[in-house]
Amino acid sequence: MSVLVVADNSKGKFKKGALEAVHYGHLVAQLLGSECHAMVIGEADQPAQLGKYGAAKVHHLSDASYNHFDGQRYLAAITEVAQQIGATVVILNHSSAGKSLLGGLGVKLKAGVVSGANSLPDITDGFSVTKNVFAGKALATIKVNSPIKVLSLMGNSIPPQEVGEEAAVEALSVADPGSSITVKEQKTVDGVVPLPEAELVVSAGRGMKGPENWGLVDELADTLSATTACSRPVADTGWRPHHEHVGQTGVAIRPNLYIAIGISGAIQHLAGVNQSKTIVVINKDPEAPFFKAADYGVCADLFDVVPKLTESLKKFKAS
Ligand SMILES: Cc1cc2nc3c(=O)[nH]c(=O)nc-3n(C[C@H](O)[C@H](O)[C@H](O)COP(=O)(O)OP(=O)(O)OC[C@H]3O[C@@H](n4cnc5c(N)ncnc54)[C@H](O)[C@@H]3O)c2cc1C
Repeated sequence: MSVLVVADNSKGKFKKGALEAVHYGHLVAQLLGSECHAMVIGEADQPAQLGKYGAAKVHHLSDASYNHFDGQRYLAAITEVAQQIGATVVILNHSSAGKSLLGGLGVKLKAGVVSGANSLPDITDGFSVTKNVFAGKALATIKVNSPIKVLSLMGNSIPPQEVGEEAAVEALSVADPGSSITVKEQKTVDGVVPLPEAELVVSAGRGMKGPENWGLVDELADTLSATTACSRPVADTGWRPHHEHVGQTGVAIRPNLYIAIGISGAIQHLAGVNQSKTIVVINKDPEAPFFKAADYGVCADLFDVVPKLTESLKKFKAS
């Protein structure tokens, strides 16, 4: 009986979400009186470091042909390892890769699945975890009755903490079902914290009037070392790239700080951002629905406020 955590890595580096998932797996294993194992797929720097976040052992499938995500091959590999170690709980990140593996793993392992879990399980009566539902307006408690459970962990739910030493790493080889796809090219955005992992996000909407004004947003984000995001129409009209679009049909985020500039706060936008710990809204319309979800609101023209805010933050940092 053990807990298996699949630790996402990008170009060999572990994402913050991977450390969160491993630490979460460690806490779940403690609750269940079992051991947390981590699985790393593809080439990765220092997989042993996952031991610091609570993995008792790391299983590393280091074959370079696994560097690119391939749902079929990943699914087969994770299933094999989960069965080999007798995992009763399998934990993935709630990333695009994790979400695409979740259902298949549920089928292969005959497991109950919870997508986007955000709490430690309550095991006083079975195994129950919570997740956000109805676009974040309610919290559902889901009891998983099957012997094996598969969860994806929502980012920023459990802060990763160092609890131990480096773990033993065991090289892994698995039966390869072969691939029906060929990755010809992979384009990634380098140098910025990806939105699902970002703790600070500066986001803007149609109130910006056009892409030529985005320097204001970028400068504020650079000053705060924040990641930039946008509303859907902004991405649809090509003002910003689609990977920045947050909301119901975009990326769902839970940063510590979300600054919304010139965004009305439509329900579909709020669905992806209303789990942010602190929301600051800058909008010139006092009736903008976003103010109802805001912790702090500035009712003013963004072209006046944003440069002043950036300037003040620069002075604050300099002092
Ligand atoms: C099925 C479906 C799914 C959707 N999914 C998403 C989604 O995932 N994410 C998403 O964002 N949207 C989504 N939408 C669209 C959503 O309904 C809204 O249309 C969209 O969020 C509005 O974008 P916006 O706030 O940037 O633009 P607007 O609604 O045009 O709002 C612009 C805001 O800027 C303010 N403003 C204008 N000028 C200034 C100024 N000078 N200073 C300060 N404030 C100013 C205005 O007061 C206004 O509140 C979806 C819609 C549907 C139907």
